[in-house]
Amino acid sequence: MKEQLHALEQEALEKVKDAENLQDIQAVQVAYLGRKGSITEVLRGMGKLSKEERPVIGELANKVRTAIKAAIDAKKEKIEQVELEQQLQKEAIDVTLPGRPVHIGGKHILTSIIEEIEDLFIGLGYEVREGPEVETDYFNFEALNLPKGHPARDMQDSFYITNELLLRTHTSPVQARTMQSLDGNEPIRMICPGKVYRRDNDDATHSHQFTQIEGLYVDKNVRMSDLKGTLNLFAKKIFGEDREIRLRPSFFPFTEPSVEMDISCKVCAGEGCSVCKHTGWIEILGAGMVHPKVLEMAGYDPHEYTGFAFGMGPDRIAMLKYGIDDIRRFYTDDIRFLKQFHEA
Ligand SMILES: [Zn+2]
Repeated sequence: MKEQLHALEQEALEKVKDAENLQDIQAVQVAYLGRKGSITEVLRGMGKLSKEERPVIGELANKVRTAIKAAIDAKKEKIEQVELEQQLQKEAIDVTLPGRPVHIGGKHILTSIIEEIEDLFIGLGYEVREGPEVETDYFNFEALNLPKGHPARDMQDSFYITNELLLRTHTSPVQARTMQSLDGNEPIRMICPGKVYRRDNDDATHSHQFTQIEGLYVDKNVRMSDLKGTLNLFAKKIFGEDREIRLRPSFFPFTEPSVEMDISCKVCAGEGCSVCKHTGWIEILGAGMVHPKVLEMAGYDPHEYTGFAFGMGPDRIAMLKYGIDDIRRFYTDDIRFLKQFHEA
């Protein structure tokens, strides 16, 4: 029986050594240590042994069992280790592969123009103010010297929400709000950019939504020459140092006197061409000295304070600067159009 056990041990250890995977190992375990395994079979025959032999054989059988079990466990661990390594190798990520490109957006051309103009005026000591796009009739019209029934209101037909609430037709109400918030005793230097709305029929030069930037400067001794100097600087910084400006008399209800500012045509340098309709000049913005009545309504004493205001359309400025032929291009979100200006 001793020899039988030793032979089984040798045989089992040999098979463990030859096992190549977990199934092989499992088979060895069942064949030798299982309930119907060879070692178990041998132990069943112990009943036939003498009293003296039984513990000796029993001890040996246990030793053999333990040895085989230990060999099986060690081999199992080794195989698992190898299989894990193989799996890791199979699933490894090649970090040297090129990645998928990420599309980075850019600023809308109108945002870029507005920021360029903001930077210019911030440099002149102006602050940027914003106001609501849904505005009251009072701030949109009345506080700007446009009482109910004033004929100039017809030029700015809007989208009314109620009789007293509308989508603002210009950014001027931000000026009125700023002036009224200061109790008439502080100088003001501000610009207010933003979206405005008018009930226009959309075509190449009209859009029911567009952008505006207005500026306001109120202080003691502000003169028309200050306005002209500021506008001249603006025109040269935005359109080029070689541009000239001219002021023409105009009318706005909230300024007196009022002017329109033209810049010299870039295409013909003032000679006259189809772009400037053969005048040599291109209209850019409206401006003027703040109407005394507007100052008074905002709580400023017009005998002590004066000021100037101007308003321009970033849409129009972008169209002139980049030769864009249709205002609707800004709002129809054609990525092919917008992409051209991401480097601008
Ligand atoms: Zn021209």
